[in-house]
Amino acid sequence: MKKEHELSGESVVSGWGLGKAFFIGRTVQQQETTAVSISRDDVGNEIMLFNDIRDRAKKDYHKMIKGLGSGNSVDTSILNIYEHILDDPAFIGQVVETVSSRLFDLETSIRFVSNDFVKRFESAGTSYFKERSSDMVEVCEKLVSYLHRDEGRAKTFVGPVVLVILRTFIPTDILAYDRSKIAGVITTSGGKTSHAAILARSYNIPVISGVRGISDHIKPGDEVLVDADKGRVHIRPVSLLVSSYKRQTHREEIYRELKAKWNRPVYTRDGIHIEVMANISLPEDVKEAVENGADGIGLVRTEYLLSNRKEMPSKSNHSGYYDAILNSSKGKHCTIRLMDIGGDKIPQFFEMPAEFNPFMGWRAIRIFLERKEIFETQVSAILKSGAGFDYSIMIPMVTTLQEWVEAKSFIREVATKLGMKMPRCGVLFEVPLAILEMNTFMKEIDFASIGTNDLIQYLSAADRNNSKVNYLYNPVEPAFLRIIRTAIKCANDNGKPLSICGEMAGNPQHTVLLAGLGLRRFSVIPRSIPLIKEILANISFAEAAESISHIDAIESTEDMMQWLKNLNRRHLGNLMDRIPYIETVI
Ligand code: PEP
Ligand code: MG
Repeated sequence: MKKEHELSGESVVSGWGLGKAFFIGRTVQQQETTAVSISRDDVGNEIMLFNDIRDRAKKDYHKMIKGLGSGNSVDTSILNIYEHILDDPAFIGQVVETVSSRLFDLETSIRFVSNDFVKRFESAGTSYFKERSSDMVEVCEKLVSYLHRDEGRAKTFVGPVVLVILRTFIPTDILAYDRSKIAGVITTSGGKTSHAAILARSYNIPVISGVRGISDHIKPGDEVLVDADKGRVHIRPVSLLVSSYKRQTHREEIYRELKAKWNRPVYTRDGIHIEVMANISLPEDVKEAVENGADGIGLVRTEYLLSNRKEMPSKSNHSGYYDAILNSSKGKHCTIRLMDIGGDKIPQFFEMPAEFNPFMGWRAIRIFLERKEIFETQVSAILKSGAGFDYSIMIPMVTTLQEWVEAKSFIREVATKLGMKMPRCGVLFEVPLAILEMNTFMKEIDFASIGTNDLIQYLSAADRNNSKVNYLYNPVEPAFLRIIRTAIKCANDNGKPLSICGEMAGNPQHTVLLAGLGLRRFSVIPRSIPLIKEILANISFAEAAESISHIDAIESTEDMMQWLKNLNRRHLGNLMDRIPYIETVI
């Protein structure tokens, strides 16, 4: 067995975990040890799915060939080769055989057979055949990518795994598998507020991003220990190291203690009530939110209703989802966000134009206003399920007042048609133009929420999914904090409730800062609620505000970071001695 080895990367979600390496994202040698198995009943479905994704891949390659046109310099024959592979009877036959006789799932089978082809091509003498191995990898990845955008069901593993992702980390990497078996994730790229990282944080899965040299040092099935507090990946760790990690139960014990304590409202030392709500995606998350003491649901990311689906959700899919969420939220307020389709959340069945820059493209309300029929299904299901519950509707990615007015009048039309009451409606402020003009929205909205995840990326022109530019993606940037302060003041002056539901609100290092800026409603992943409440209970709202009055004098990022450290030490000194990991949570 090869010796222990260590790699490093950037911590994206804190914690540690141990499991066997399971690769996603490129053909790799031997998936035996982490092969995913299926039952005999699933064989037919897997084969049908194989035919389906082969057809889709062929159509996509066709589209690409057409798109290239005749006057281009790109050799389109390469695309014809891909089509050839997809129709190759040997390739098709071997995949079908692997699924039906070895009872491996489709991804494992495609990888298995592709690996076999790659090995054979590589051992061939001619350069022509050697080149075919990279074509095989391309086709294999193309096919697998459809599976990851449309899994159909979550797959499970025999024991804990560490997902090794050789591309940007995406939400389906988590949703496609049984979460309880994912002990950690290492990935070549992905930022702290990418949707995949948010999901991983919700499910307490540590993540390290920007890891280099993965393929040279990790083989499928290797034991991997992910220490995302320190940004280290231990490959084939020695047993002494593993047992030293297993003894570190401290963090979990504190979490359990705080969870038991905070099933009640929180007041700062000077008696100000602060709401700490939960961000959720799936109906089963509500139970966790309630158990963690959520004062309500501050954000339902309804686009997760689209994942694991082959077609646009029907009326009854929608209703089932909202009924399940509202019924289990125990009468607490629930803010349902209309589907934020686009950006990195593209359902495979939805016809999206090819976009160079999807995060700046056709997304959320922009789709809503053009494809009202899709949103009519969603809005009417929410209105019907919401009858008798305390809920509101929030719209993402609003840029102009005009968009908002049009969207709101559409919701009113739907409500009138159904004879239902118009719900409270609010804006998710995450586009710079909108937040800078928040004042003009005030008379038109019932509430506001700030989506710091997108807002930071748009203000700093730094992609939230790209670990390479993470150093620019910083919530503690002086100009950013001044914008947040103005927005909170604007909502408070107008008597409109405002929350922050971006990841910034769930980071305990930002709690004093945000309270000082006047924030009274936090919306965070369920697991973060007890710690955020504990911090709020230990501070004085007035004293935090007093400390924040100094931020205008701070000009540089470095000075602001240092100032924040001192601020936390000053307000939370004793608590940080008791809970030292406050300083390392990401
Ligand atoms: C945000 O942008 O901060 C937000 C809450 O929305 P999402 O992370 O789903 O884009
Ligand atoms: Mg957003």
